[in-house]
Amino acid sequence: DTILSIAGVGKTYAGGTTALHPVDLDIRRGEIFALLGPNGAGKTTLISIVCGIVTPSTGTITVAGHDAVRDYKAARRVLGLVPQELATDQFETVLATVTFSRRLFGRSGHAGHIEQVLRDLSLWDKRHAKIRELSGGMKRRVLIAKALAHEPDILFLDEPTAGVDVELRRDMWKLVHRLRERGTTIILTTHYIEEAEEMADRVGVITKGRLLLVEDKTAMMQKL
Ligand code: ADP
Ligand code: ADP
Repeated sequence: DTILSIAGVGKTYAGGTTALHPVDLDIRRGEIFALLGPNGAGKTTLISIVCGIVTPSTGTITVAGHDAVRDYKAARRVLGLVPQELATDQFETVLATVTFSRRLFGRSGHAGHIEQVLRDLSLWDKRHAKIRELSGGMKRRVLIAKALAHEPDILFLDEPTAGVDVELRRDMWKLVHRLRERGTTIILTTHYIEEAEEMADRVGVITKGRLLLVEDKTAMMQKL
């Protein structure tokens, strides 16, 4: 069962850099997929395209039946993105930020879900704190909570453990496994082989904008 289909998706930025040569990739419902590659490989570009933040130069993307390029608003309702950096109103409280994020993606009410997300991320006690008062690690937690606020079917994690402390790393893996049990599909980018090995069911290796191979984790690890 394919939840996300990427067909011939390529990107050349305005400056002329080809960040992505046409990529074909099908993501299975409920899997954890790792996009493994060095800095500059095109990982962020690919997930930004799928999440409707960057427009592709070529190709089509289908997310749960929606054309994610033409109808990115519909696609976004089922996607959650945890970007690398926090671009959010620093003067808002944690609770307001996360609640707003839920409404932004077309869902209202259900304070219970937001409470659960904040508790899972050890943010509940900080819910009335302003974002700018939080430590870097806590801000990363807010990013995850924002992405989960609208109960997405597919969660994207861009370099989730880069520059993250041990405690958050552990909490993140717990959360990923809990989400998977609920049926959430998870796509993460990393430049750590160990992380791909530990976390994912399948791994796609990307370098210089080319998706080189996609394999079940065990098959790939035997080759490396
Ligand atoms: P990764 O996430 O694997 O580090 P990126 O997708 O961020 O890779 O970058 C791939 C290539 O595209 C790099 O050469 C990068 O410099 C370039 N690039 C990324 N974003 C832009 C942009 N907005 N404009 C021009 N070039 C970009
Ligand atoms: P703007 O309102 O400035 O046009 P966008 O609506 O494109 O901005 O996106 C606002 C922010 O929300 C972006 O920084 C993007 O990273 C983030 N975003 C987009 N889609 C999602 C999603 N499905 N889940 C979580 N964050 C998202």
